[in-house]
Amino acid sequence: MPRFAFIGQRLWLDFVNTDHDTKAGRVDALDSFEALLAWFGAAQVLDPERVDSMQRRAAQQPAGATAALHDARRVRAALRVLAERGLRDATPALTEINRVLSRAVGARRIEPRDDGTLVRSFIPSGDAFAQLIVPIVDSAADTLVSGELARVRRCASATCARVFFDASRNGRRRWCDMRTCGNRAKATRHRKKRKTAR
Ligand SMILES: [Zn+2]
Repeated sequence: MPRFAFIGQRLWLDFVNTDHDTKAGRVDALDSFEALLAWFGAAQVLDPERVDSMQRRAAQQPAGATAALHDARRVRAALRVLAERGLRDATPALTEINRVLSRAVGARRIEPRDDGTLVRSFIPSGDAFAQLIVPIVDSAADTLVSGELARVRRCASATCARVFFDASRNGRRRWCDMRTCGNRAKATRHRKKRKTAR
């Protein structure tokens, strides 16, 4: 299984999904600063050179790296509440989002990704560790101000805590991923049908 799943359709939702329930219990894919950097690399938020330079900096400033990891997890927890509960309980997330945005100092750029799509990147000037999380928070802010939050859902499987943006036309997507949870649900329905037919 790949280390990180990118099924959320929005950067901040993919970030929330680094901490999710499986049959084996809660799994935190961001268990170290190295893992956090690897995620940013996999999400194409940081290019490989910047991942390398952040890694060198982390070796020199381990306390700063640890603080950045804890901060990222704290933001993630607030964003999970926002994804799962929406505007009913948005105040803690808005506080976190504004805390990060208010200290964001740097340049925002639009850059092409390998697959031809465009991504907004953020080049921090100032504390690069503290600013790692800025693109995630930007993504959540975009969802909020564009009125898209109502389309953010949690997977309908009781054993899966993944969240995603429902980009389907009819707005009735239920599963994080058709290949995993969607498929399991289909198989269960099929089994039940066969039982009642007998
Ligand atoms: Zn799922």
